[in-house]
Amino acid sequence: MTTHPLFDIADRTALVTGSSRGIGHALARGLVEAGCTVVLNGRDPHALEKAAAELGGADAGVHTAAFDVTDGPAVAAGIADVEERVGPLDILVNNAGMQNRAPLLEFTDDAWRQILDTNLTSAFLVGREAARRMTERGHGKIVNICSLQSEVVRPGIAPYAATKGALKMLTKGMCADWGRYGIQVNGLGPGYIETELTRPLVEDEEFSAWVRGRTPAGRWGRTEDLVGALLYLASPAADFVSGQVLYVDGGMTSVL
Ligand code: NDP
Repeated sequence: MTTHPLFDIADRTALVTGSSRGIGHALARGLVEAGCTVVLNGRDPHALEKAAAELGGADAGVHTAAFDVTDGPAVAAGIADVEERVGPLDILVNNAGMQNRAPLLEFTDDAWRQILDTNLTSAFLVGREAARRMTERGHGKIVNICSLQSEVVRPGIAPYAATKGALKMLTKGMCADWGRYGIQVNGLGPGYIETELTRPLVEDEEFSAWVRGRTPAGRWGRTEDLVGALLYLASPAADFVSGQVLYVDGGMTSVL
């Protein structure tokens, strides 16, 4: 089987933040299978080594870079180290994120800052650091992992939705600022996907059934469902696509 040249990303180098597990790990696997050299990121070096081994390790072009994406100096050092050790980044996936379900009236100042730092500031810090280099080289693809909650919200997740809604606008702003340098910036918006982050919801049978009922596809998403959209957004096929959010949600954002 041949790959259409528009979808060929075999020689690219990619960094996926928050890829020790869950969606980030599945996206990294997809990039490895497409022939990319891939750098996994997270805060826990041991978890990263295990995650890299699952994808074939250094022999398969899989590397690790442990740093906290909310820590500006650590991000700057981390990106510099990745480019020196592995090579120039062609693709950045800003995926690291967290959830904190609590009523807004009970949400503390610290909890607010933590979710904002993890889900939004991280994309600014890592995106800026990568784009400083991509702009010099005149090309790059950045994909920010948004959410169906970039568009809609439910009780108890206002801070999360605020971060993801802002991430959508940051995506458009990065597109506006960096387009002239040959960088395309898009969002990928997952619906409800089974991962560690959503485990409490999956295990809540009533909520789980609500998700299945509200989703036109009639099921929860799987991490593999997101891979095709990422490969498209990272490929030459999307060279004139920028500032968009591609929702991969089984249709959920389209229905009441
Ligand atoms: P998981 O909790 O399973 O994984 C989160 C990943 O991010 C882990 O690898 C974690 O590693 C890493 N991470 C968290 N904080 C940091 C940090 N400060 N610095 C570096 N790495 C960090 O989450 P999911 O895979 O479910 O979610 C991934 C992304 O997808 C998130 O942005 C989430 O908001 C988004 N999303 C998820 C949906 C879902 O239904 N699951 C739906 C819509 C969007 P470690 O803790 O070791 O640092």
